[in-house]
Amino acid sequence: MTDDPSSSEPRPPLLAVDSTKLRPCPECGERQWLEGLTYRRCAHCGFRDGPSPQEILGQREEAL
Ligand SMILES: [Zn+2]
Repeated sequence: MTDDPSSSEPRPPLLAVDSTKLRPCPECGERQWLEGLTYRRCAHCGFRDGPSPQEILGQREEAL
């Protein structure tokens, strides 16, 4: 994952969660998840589990 400094779009904060009860990351097997609004992201490799807010908005636009 790379942070784009040119992006002016604010990002929702990702909260570190107690992930011991969650399934491990399918990519790297770690359980360090960052909790987003609509998804979790692996703190170790950046794997995203769930849709991004942008994807959800896009789906809603398509649904309309
Ligand atoms: Zn991972």
